[in-house]
Amino acid sequence: MISYKDLGLINSKSLLLQAYENNYAVPAFNFVCTEQLQAIVEACIIEKSSFILQASANVCKYMGIGFVHHLAAAAADKVSREGKGIRMALNLDHGLSLEECVNCIDHGFSAVMIDGSAKSFQENIDITKQVVEYASKHGVAVEGELGVLSGQEEGQIHSGHNYTDPSVVVEFVQKTNVDCLAVSVGTSHGMVKIKPNPDGSLPELRFDILSEIRNKLPGFPLVLHGSSCIYPEYVEMINSYGGKIETVRGIPEEQVRRAARETSVCKINVASDGWIAATAAVRKALVENPSAIDPRFFLYPAKNEMINLYRKKIQNVMGSGGK
Ligand SMILES: [Zn+2]
Repeated sequence: MISYKDLGLINSKSLLLQAYENNYAVPAFNFVCTEQLQAIVEACIIEKSSFILQASANVCKYMGIGFVHHLAAAAADKVSREGKGIRMALNLDHGLSLEECVNCIDHGFSAVMIDGSAKSFQENIDITKQVVEYASKHGVAVEGELGVLSGQEEGQIHSGHNYTDPSVVVEFVQKTNVDCLAVSVGTSHGMVKIKPNPDGSLPELRFDILSEIRNKLPGFPLVLHGSSCIYPEYVEMINSYGGKIETVRGIPEEQVRRAARETSVCKINVASDGWIAATAAVRKALVENPSAIDPRFFLYPAKNEMINLYRKKIQNVMGSGGK
């Protein structure tokens, strides 16, 4: 058993409550490799933003939990030395079982998400409650989920939104004692994004659902998943260097910013936008250096492009810089 406190990490709840009071969102950046982790840490240090580092349950399998743990510890060490006043949490993204959550808590995670959203309401309550019981003994924060987002998630494709029903949120939160909740309000995971209206305009996120939840549960933090903006300049870059990505529309920056500023959304996950930035830079570097064999020829530009992307997210979407 390794406690997150020994790694210099903090329970994410205090970050979320501070964001709630001050109308911004804490960035929750997913990483799948070392360069992405370095880019996240460097961007947050430059922007003076506290952050939540995230590894999905799949990434814990891909890297091995030992690597995730030690890489996060290295990140926390760099933050403590170079990021004055910056606090950092480590969250499991989309844990699907009690065992996965327990394993992460035992390996120094300071927060876990248990995603029971595909289960029945009662089963979701039961599994979330079990995770909260274990996590609270170790001072670890828990994120639950109600409502299913459309899009790609852990290899599965969900079509159509199953919006979070505000009338059952209070019951879910009271029965589980969960610290924060991911809600489905029109965002989508992966590269399956919003369809424009017939007149070409983009449908709005369901701000009505967000404000109803805020009225019912004042002070309770919400989480947005699947809110990648899918910046057209990266899609064009990927396609002009041999990629083949269909034109998809992400969630406009202004809408996600509005959610961070005006609603109870206190944590916004960023995964796909980071990968898209990295892929664009890798494709360009490989095409422009056809004889290069040292991976740093493409890893270095990828890291730099991700730093740009994360800084832009902190400035334009989260509003968390200097907080
Ligand atoms: Zn998600």
